[in-house]
Amino acid sequence: MNTLNFALFYFINAVACHHDHSRSKNMYDKLSNQIIGKINKAKNEYTSCYTKNGTCFYPNILNDLEPFKNGITREMITGAADKGTRYMIYNHDVYREAKCMFPARCEGIEYFLSKIQLNTPDVEFILNTRDWPQIIKHYGDPKPVFSFSKTDDYADIMYPAWSFWSGGPAIKLHPSGLGRWDSLRKSILKQAEQWPWKNKINKGFFRGSRTSEQRDPLILLSRNQPELVDAAYTKNQAWKSDKDTLFAPPADEISLEDHCQYKYLFNFRGVAASFRFKHLFLCKSLVFHVGEDWKEFFYQFMKPWYHYVPINPNASEKDIKNILVFFKEHDDLAKEIAEQGYRFIRTHLRMKDITWYWETLLQEYAKLLKYKPKLDNELNLINR
Ligand code: UDP
Repeated sequence: MNTLNFALFYFINAVACHHDHSRSKNMYDKLSNQIIGKINKAKNEYTSCYTKNGTCFYPNILNDLEPFKNGITREMITGAADKGTRYMIYNHDVYREAKCMFPARCEGIEYFLSKIQLNTPDVEFILNTRDWPQIIKHYGDPKPVFSFSKTDDYADIMYPAWSFWSGGPAIKLHPSGLGRWDSLRKSILKQAEQWPWKNKINKGFFRGSRTSEQRDPLILLSRNQPELVDAAYTKNQAWKSDKDTLFAPPADEISLEDHCQYKYLFNFRGVAASFRFKHLFLCKSLVFHVGEDWKEFFYQFMKPWYHYVPINPNASEKDIKNILVFFKEHDDLAKEIAEQGYRFIRTHLRMKDITWYWETLLQEYAKLLKYKPKLDNELNLINR
């Protein structure tokens, strides 16, 4: 290349680079404005929910029971029997049919039933212990089935997951299953104090198995830009080969307490909602919640851009990178949302709120029963 050609080449490249740079700067500014607009809007619209006796979550109970407002007959219960395990509270004792697909999950549920049995009128209900909800919304008359998680496509009645006490996923760190929200709350809150915002590692973080492919873009971003994100797949019980960890050896598990070291924590759906969600907030880190379809009973009271950062489930590596970069450059906003999310879970999702939810749910449900439940010989007394 002669001198003239070289100068021309350099000039064209410089113009192109400048053009590219200003275009991406423009796009970044546009995205920043959009995000700031959404954060301001969420803040202006947010009204804290009423907390006396846990009434914060009451609208969800009414909402879930709305399809049954004309009453629940014995035939409706019989028709739903194959969708779960039959429970009865009769004369203030708890009874259950013998079959329970996941005994540790039934144990987690029975812990709460034993707390409320003295305040609960006679009720009979079918409780699904699978991850997946059972009642498609617009498919015939809905049957009353209790499930822990659903999307808006289902008419299941949500109950607080068994894992608030026992029966959560068994991982190396929790070999008998994740549970005991009471003690995990304490240990995570304690660890959060060791990692104040200014000392946290300025990176996105995720550890978990590949229960949904929605997690892949973050794992790939971490492999390409480890300075921005530390995300890796761990083994679960279904792991067969490196394919199940996106063609990399499984990573070591990291305790929920140790998540508190990082500023930005990611949550994704798994088979249904992931139990991870509530724990992440207690770290006082900023939660990035990918996809908002799968819910537990308390999710709708947490607001995107106020308590957490919502991420589109189809977000690409680049989309995730852009939003992470935005929050790295707007540390005050990141910290504020992290604190708001922390405060919500800390003050509204205590063990007594879970007990309150069960109690109120069963009291409201009992009002809809059009028959008097009667014991039969398929039901066994649960002694706790
Ligand atoms: N988990 C954890 N540390 C890890 C991996 C998983 O604490 O290194 C927890 C995680 O927070 C979740 C549970 O184990 O509550 C199961 O996680 P996984 O990703 O396997 O499944 P998910 O239920 O999220 O679909």
